[in-house]
Amino acid sequence: MKRGDLFVISGPSGVGKTILCRRLLKQVSGISFSVSYTTRVPRKGETDGIDYHFITRDKFKEMVTAGAFLEWAGIYEESYGTGRSEVLSRLDLGEDILLDIDVHGARQVRRPFPEAILIFLLPPSWSALEARLKGRGTEDPSKLRLRMANARSELEAVHEYDFAVINDDLSRATEDLKSIVLAQRCRTSRVLEGGSWPLAYNDIKSKK
Ligand code: ADP
Ligand code: 5GP
Repeated sequence: MKRGDLFVISGPSGVGKTILCRRLLKQVSGISFSVSYTTRVPRKGETDGIDYHFITRDKFKEMVTAGAFLEWAGIYEESYGTGRSEVLSRLDLGEDILLDIDVHGARQVRRPFPEAILIFLLPPSWSALEARLKGRGTEDPSKLRLRMANARSELEAVHEYDFAVINDDLSRATEDLKSIVLAQRCRTSRVLEGGSWPLAYNDIKSKK
């Protein structure tokens, strides 16, 4: 069985990563979300084990020391990390995995997974980004300023990504994301090695 593919989605806070990931996961089968670990407090409506694994700073440090993270980063004075064993075991089962992580995390993932598919979400404008962050109502004014300031430096990393999707219209951006995942599944290597095509590659060669 072919290993699953690793899809990484990044973009500034408030651009729409969470909502787009949810829509993608609802509409495409065979891909699942990697629930990250974080030291930040849950927002209203967030559930432990579904949105994040909410853990203490001590527990996070313990996990770093134990090498339990595939990647991790300090962001907005909190820590965020991707559990190594969960991701690796699901990839080995042939499942595609979606990570919503920041640009530092994406760079760390690219080292062991040079074939990971990196997707950057772009806001249609600064004003739209600010309006979305404000509209979400989860950040106090100082945290909102910090996230907007960070957005500028994060955007510079877009050149390191394989795909860029502008999240202007939600439905159109969802279609773009789906297209990327579905196109990856049609790669020759994935079709021939993945067992989804009934003939073996040797069959074609022997008919020549
Ligand atoms: P992120 O996970 O990138 O921080 P969210 O998915 O939480 O961002 O989105 C931030 C806010 O913007 C949410 O309230 C969401 O509903 C809204 N939003 C996301 N995409 C769009 C869009 N294309 N048009 C209008 N509002 C959007
Ligand atoms: P939020 O606090 O808004 O949920 O997320 C803040 C930032 O942390 C976002 O850019 C998000 O992509 C990033 N993030 C979430 N989980 C992880 C993770 O496991 N690793 C890294 N490196 N970044 C993460």
